[in-house]
Amino acid sequence: MKTLQISIDNPTGLHARPAKNFVNLAKKFKADIFVEFGEKKVNAKSLISLLTLGVKPHQVIKITCEGEGEDEALQALQKAIQDGLGDDLQALKQSAAEPLNTTVREAGLVGMAVSPGITVGKVFEYRRENLSIDMAFRSNEEETLQLENSLKQVQKNIQQSKLALTHQIKAEDLAIFDAHQEILSDQNLLDEVSHQIRQGHSAVNAWQSVLDEKIRELSAVNNSLIRDRVADLYDLRERVLREMTGRTGNNQFPSEPVIVFAQSLLPSDAIAFAQHKILGVALVEGSTTDHSAILSRALGIPAVAQLKDQLLQAERAEQVILDGNRGYVNLTPTQAELDRAQQETKKWETLKQTAQMNAAAKAQTVDGHTVEVAANIASNEDVQQAVEKGADGVGLLRTEFLFDKRKTPPTEEEQYNIYKAMLRGLDGRTLVLRTLDIGGDKPLPFINFIKENNPFLGERGIRLCLREEEIFRTQLRAALCATENGSMRIMFPMVGDYEEWQQAKTILQEIQTDLKVSAIEVGMMIEVPSAVVLADQFAREVDFFSIGTNDLTQYTLAVDRTHQRLGHYLDGLHPAVLRQIQRTVSEAHKHGKWVGICGELGADPTAIPVLVGLGVDELSVNIPAIPLVKDQIRKLNFDACQQLADQVLECRTAKEVRARVHEWQQNLSSIL
Ligand code: PEP
Ligand code: MG
Repeated sequence: MKTLQISIDNPTGLHARPAKNFVNLAKKFKADIFVEFGEKKVNAKSLISLLTLGVKPHQVIKITCEGEGEDEALQALQKAIQDGLGDDLQALKQSAAEPLNTTVREAGLVGMAVSPGITVGKVFEYRRENLSIDMAFRSNEEETLQLENSLKQVQKNIQQSKLALTHQIKAEDLAIFDAHQEILSDQNLLDEVSHQIRQGHSAVNAWQSVLDEKIRELSAVNNSLIRDRVADLYDLRERVLREMTGRTGNNQFPSEPVIVFAQSLLPSDAIAFAQHKILGVALVEGSTTDHSAILSRALGIPAVAQLKDQLLQAERAEQVILDGNRGYVNLTPTQAELDRAQQETKKWETLKQTAQMNAAAKAQTVDGHTVEVAANIASNEDVQQAVEKGADGVGLLRTEFLFDKRKTPPTEEEQYNIYKAMLRGLDGRTLVLRTLDIGGDKPLPFINFIKENNPFLGERGIRLCLREEEIFRTQLRAALCATENGSMRIMFPMVGDYEEWQQAKTILQEIQTDLKVSAIEVGMMIEVPSAVVLADQFAREVDFFSIGTNDLTQYTLAVDRTHQRLGHYLDGLHPAVLRQIQRTVSEAHKHGKWVGICGELGADPTAIPVLVGLGVDELSVNIPAIPLVKDQIRKLNFDACQQLADQVLECRTAKEVRARVHEWQQNLSSIL
């Protein structure tokens, strides 16, 4: 037996490429070879075992060789370590004078990554201008005519924007335009403006004063849905004023490509992304779920939110770097950092193209573990896009789109026709239909809601469906009748109590018997912590779980998911959320059931290795993210992800989890 104690001087320690080279060399010898570090002793021919030692730079390991060719083996390993195990240690020592990645992040502002990609460019600081104009009254006829013409023109512009973006943005996101058109034709609002004109105010003054009053009224209401309408009103206040006065405003996006810095963005600001050369978006406020984030992702524009006031206050260079993968902005990059970021931008573009080319292939890790990557959809048009982007199926059909903006609920036949068309469009791929998830903050005119102080803790999801049983039964009948056109599963949202599950399941079974259709898989969403605590009970009964991390995070951390100031708390990589995902997966797998993730977390590049490592069977994500998510999974090693998941479960904060994953990704990038 021969032994050797030796220091590992590679900058990543015994990780990444050096570890892989070490193992490959060890495998060439017949002798048994072991590496000892601390209290652990592992087989040197197993990469994963070697990685578990976590040998850091300049730490000393002990190598033991025993058996045939032990001398040669030890000498070869010693030489390989001294030669750098594939790293040029000399060159690395020199370049260590400027550790690029660390410098980039230390010099930068860290926020929340809301849309992936890396970009370099000039900054355009967007400050919303609040127009305040005083115009003298002419005559009733002239003012009325001016108002009518301006409103018509703005309606027309909105319609044109909508048409121009139809192929770039999902139908669901185009609904912003409908909301604006609706407000502009709101009779009450128009009557109030006309009344002011008749009282002798100019159209400009009347429009401002009525809109300002409405904005004041609605701002005082503590309801997230209404808050969104306030943003729309602001938006329309400015658009119509500009139209009436011919002012273009000082905030037109420039024609050259820019990175937009702003406090926050209104819906129409975000729409301007699609019509201008926007390289990236950095916001003081914002969140992963607001309009600008949704549109940035849909248009493939890297974006970072929650960067705090420093974003607009700190000094910055002519060119800045924005990293929407890790969520930071470097305001004063060095030339070396700019060069490196330019290279990363090019790599990112190539990666996106390759990912799209391979989109149809399955997402299998390098060691053969497959994860389904499905689409979250909310309209019939989404089906086609999901298929084009390589979705293995639909992991979440948000059926709310069939119910909102209507005075009466959709009939069974209307719903049947849509579900049928979707199943046919999916051509054999499975559709997971989530039954109506409405309530509290998302009212429907045909449902009798009471005023709730905490709508997110009120009559939502399955609670509401069980109260409005006829609407629920109609939806289930339509869905079950449509099943003959393809493969469908049904799931119930917001289940937090066993009796809710039991009642919903019983109703479904009654309808199945009544319609004489064959049974289909039935599951529930895991988005209420009580369902996680009782996951062992639920797992016996369901066919699958789908974890809604958006709601699970809000309920776990007690932070309203639409809160304007608390967006930075809402990180699904919080260990408290991850531990719940782990429990859900482990209980489901004990009973042979599968688990999907259908919240935003599933498309977060930092979360993906952790979720894969936790054993999640399916990631259901926004459509544009599908090729990239698949591509990322194909580069992962399942064993290594499992070890990573074990490590991050021990972290104390979401920040710690993110830092640990980024460190792991850097170490592993050279292996992969
Ligand atoms: C979730 O809560 O994560 C989810 C997917 O449901 P929704 O976002 O529609 O509430
Ligand atoms: Mg939810």
